[in-house]
Amino acid sequence: MSDAHAGAGFPVVSYERRGMYSGGGNALASSFMQTVENKPESGGGPLGAVLEELLGLAREAARHSYSPYSGFKVGAALKLGSGEIVTGTNVENASYGLTVCAERAALVRAVAIFGPEIRVAAAAVANLNDAPSPPCGACRQALAEFMLPEAPVAFPAEDGMRAMPFSALLPMAFEKKRK
Ligand SMILES: [Zn+2]
Repeated sequence: MSDAHAGAGFPVVSYERRGMYSGGGNALASSFMQTVENKPESGGGPLGAVLEELLGLAREAARHSYSPYSGFKVGAALKLGSGEIVTGTNVENASYGLTVCAERAALVRAVAIFGPEIRVAAAAVANLNDAPSPPCGACRQALAEFMLPEAPVAFPAEDGMRAMPFSALLPMAFEKKRK
């Protein structure tokens, strides 16, 4: 784990490489990692141009949030391996338990539009409440189904914006052999 303190705006960029997930063949994720490792301030910001773009779109999606119970307005943006970007927002429910997070909303939408073969190459989560909001455990497990292990995920943390590879967010996803 290495932290690069990059000044105002996005004070902390966290990055961790897991050797066990090294062979993914994801050009987008690889180029992002180089950006963060070698030139944190290049590419339109410390998080890199791709994640900055995704964060902007996630914030936009958060404006559509249906969150009359918590007031917590969250948006997520997923960049697919094909280059397409799909956003989602949280949709709450009077039962509370049926609430759907922005990340899963985006994921379901991505599959609905682009089909079951999608791979998520990068993701960003944002909220309009200035609160730390890494993807919740349920969303991490849901994303694991489609997420490339090395795909960077950007989210607001206690100490500022963070970006880390998905494999570091969920090191031991539940897996089942597909038929
Ligand atoms: Zn969630």
